Amino acid sequence: MLNIKNLSVKVEDKVILKDLNLDIEDGSIHVIMGPNGVGKSTLTKTIMKDPNYKIISGDIIYNENRINDLKTDEVARCGIFLAMQNPIEIDGVNNLDFLRTALSSNNKSVNLYSFMKDTEKEVKNLQMPSEMLRRSLNKGFSGGEKKKNEILQMKILKPDFVMFDEIDSGVDVDSLKIIAKNINEYKKENEKASYLIITHYTHLLKYIKPDYVHILKDGKIVLTGDYSLAKEIEENGFNFDNIMSNVNDGCDSSE
Ligand code: ADP
Ligand code: MG
Repeated sequence: MLNIKNLSVKVEDKVILKDLNLDIEDGSIHVIMGPNGVGKSTLTKTIMKDPNYKIISGDIIYNENRINDLKTDEVARCGIFLAMQNPIEIDGVNNLDFLRTALSSNNKSVNLYSFMKDTEKEVKNLQMPSEMLRRSLNKGFSGGEKKKNEILQMKILKPDFVMFDEIDSGVDVDSLKIIAKNINEYKKENEKASYLIITHYTHLLKYIKPDYVHILKDGKIVLTGDYSLAKEIEENGFNFDNIMSNVNDGCDSSE
């Protein structure tokens, strides 16, 4: 269970999130939509404790523990994972070694044989060429390959709370189906896991049914609805007068 209470965050000297409230219960799928530059990625990076994003006030509570002051690796060890909007390329760091190191820092006793078996199975499930495991992390990967590699990390590290930041951008239709299938399989195998999906489109949401769709604007969640709200946004944009009249259960999730 993740509880974000009155969270305000600044980047450089600009306040991006202002008194944001969001509760994500176990087993649920939440979606955040919002115009460019509104602070969607900022929210995910703040949760992951990226040092560029400073918490001015408020709390991030995960399974009843306040995680505001943890470091990124400690947040990851709590079982929180971010599939990044723009995964970074690290030349010279082998993809497979990276995965194994990440796993062993989470879980002290990694059995090399089962790690290799699981990784090979997941690479097949994701329809990735297995040679991608031997390449440098994300180096020269296409946009879609980078996103699949993020899903591979999720499936190996087995987090309980997963954030997908535009996992669908730059991904072709076939790859998107494969990504969605893998997320759904993961959800089936990990019933208590919960998800925060950031997206601009409903394509992914046709395969992964959200419980809640939130609109982020002016630093906070201004509207919450269900899948129909996402469809409304895709058709009409963030024109709030139209949206308000078409969505019956609009409310600030914080209230
Ligand atoms: P979104 O994901 O909703 O498109 P972001 O959270 O990435 O938006 O960015 C919110 C605002 O913060 C934008 O104006 C962006 O330019 C600014 N911002 C984000 N990260 C940084 C950074 N590291 N340095 C300076 N400004 C940043
Ligand atoms: Mg973003």
